[in-house]
Parts: sequence; C-alpha cells; structure tokens
Amino acid sequence: MNAILCRTKWRIFGVDTDCYRIQQYLQNERVEFFCSDLSAPGVVQRIAQFPIVVNLAAICTPSRYMSQAVTVIRSNYDYPALLAEACQKSGSWLIHFSTSEVYGKTPADSGPLKEDETPLIFGPVQSSRWSYATAKLLTERFVAGLENLRWTMVRPFNFVGPYMDFMPGVDGEGIPRVLANFSTALLKGEPIKLVNGGCARRSFTSVFDAMDFLFDVFASPEKAFYQTFNVGNPENEVTIAELAEKMRRIYAQLRGVSLASIPEPCSIDGEAYYGVGYDDSLRRLPDVEKAERLLGFKASTPLDVVLRESLSWFVDHYGAGTEL
Ligand code: UDP
Repeated sequence: MNAILCRTKWRIFGVDTDCYRIQQYLQNERVEFFCSDLSAPGVVQRIAQFPIVVNLAAICTPSRYMSQAVTVIRSNYDYPALLAEACQKSGSWLIHFSTSEVYGKTPADSGPLKEDETPLIFGPVQSSRWSYATAKLLTERFVAGLENLRWTMVRPFNFVGPYMDFMPGVDGEGIPRVLANFSTALLKGEPIKLVNGGCARRSFTSVFDAMDFLFDVFASPEKAFYQTFNVGNPENEVTIAELAEKMRRIYAQLRGVSLASIPEPCSIDGEAYYGVGYDDSLRRLPDVEKAERLLGFKASTPLDVVLRESLSWFVDHYGAGTEL
C-alpha cells in the first residue's frame, strides 16, 4: 500500500480481514479500506469496479492445509474464481497471486522450475498438504480459461521480510511460516525445530524485490497479459537447516551475545509436528528467465540482508522485555 501511494497517484480500494498493520495509511484520502472476507455478498463486484485488481487474499499457512482443507480450498479456489468472473464482466485486469507450491511434491534432485514447461506433481489425496496447491492450480486453470479476461499469474517463491506472518500466542495461533516460526523460537530462547532434519531447500525472496516485480508488471501490461511468472531468487537457495544456522548467527549479532548461548536446533517428524497428511516439497528452485526477458525484472536482495531486516523487525516488534 505504501509503495503504491509513494510511486503512483492511484486510488486504492483495499479489502482484508483485518487492518492493524496498515493503520497509518487509512486516513490517506486516496485509500478506501473495507474490512471483509471475499465471500461477503457484493464484495468481489465492488473490487472489480477498479481497472487493476491484485488478488493477494488467501489462507497460505501450511499448518492449516491438513486440519482445515475445505476452508483452505474455498479460500484459494471458490472466492478467487468469483473475483475472476467479476473481473471478466467488468473488464478489469486481474493480477492473481498463485503459489510456487503448484509445482507440488518436487524431489530433492529437481532442477529449476519453469512456468510453462515443468510438470506439476501432486501427492495422493491422503496427503492433505496438497489441498492448497490443488486449489491454487485449479484457480490458475479457471482464470486462464475465462474468455475476455485479461490476467497475469504470479507464483511467489517464499517471500520474506518485515511485517510477515505472526507470532504464535501474540497475534495469531498455530504454526506460522518458517521465518516467523524460527524468529519466535529465537526470541523465546527455545530450540528451532527442523522438520525432518531441515533437509528441504527453499529459495527465499525479499518482499521488497517482489514489490518491484509488481511495479514492473504495472509498467508493461501488454507484456504481462496472459503470462504466468515465477517470482523468486535462485541465488538465495538454502536448506532449512542452513537457514536456521544463518538466523542463529544473525540473532546472536543483533543481541550482542555468543552463538553458543543460542540453543541448538532439534529435528522433528513432519507429521508429528504439522499433523497427519503433511508432506513436503524437497527442492523449490525457480527459473526466473521469463520475468527478466519480458519485464526486465531480477530479484537482487541477498538472503543475509533480508534475514537481518526481518529479524530486526521481529525483535523490535515483538521483543519488548525479552532479554537474553
Ligand atoms: N519448517 C521447519 N520448521 C518450522 C517451520 C517450517 O523445518 O518450524 C520447514 C517446512 O517443513 C518446509 C520449510 O521449512 O520444509 C518451509 O516451510 P514454510 O512453512 O515456510 O512453507 P513452504 O515453503 O513449505 O510452503
């Protein structure tokens, strides 16, 4: 929201289920905010009155994919499909945020994932982890099938940065995404939990790079229409165990304490941690050639920089009163 206000003269109509992190923008005369879910009557039609619609609304927390599969599917297929149809009717350009998880249960030896070539591997129905990816993929297919809808599809690869997710027990419940969860453990002085030893690999992408990507899309509609883009940073690929080590080091530096004083990580079984039906993607490496070729976009923030930024924010935001 801040970037749109600073870089454009546009008006913003924002819809979300809460607004506590954007309070400072709500008084701006170019901002109208509506506190709601996309399922509320008339909301998607109101949104579709605007010429550009960016759909970021979704349940996207893996810990919920097993226990709340139906809610996750509604959030990631039913409501986005309604919004897409409303945009089709009104003529709006729909920029839909899908997920890198549509590549599915990628094995450890998989190479760079290409938007228009890589086969998508979905696990068995009993592995309810894939409820989210299945719903996201169906939305991609639905959007691509709607005649006369101008669309752009975005597949984010593990966006990270300040303001993301929540701290369990403070402003949310359950298990947040890996960065917030590791930050929480560090702040509480507890061992970081490595699911199945932390052997899975991810390519973490600064949310500020992701924002720049969005502005490159805004600047080149003709090149972005009817295209699906990976948005990721292959240079930031690490195993989750390596991520934990980096975060321990940065946290020790931020707090001015020795690394030895930060608890060692421990390994935990995925199903024991997340629930029955949990499964994982072992390597998620984006091919980013298309975004660079069509839009001139390339993510550039190194992992250490984004981790330091994110951890500093987490400590400032949640850390009052926590001393080591
Ligand atoms: N993970 C972990 N410990 C945690 C949280 C996550 O080892 O406390 C692992 C998780 O099993 C996955 C990776 O970290 O392999 C990334 O998890 P995240 O929740 O960020 O979402 P994903 O990338 O799987 O969609």
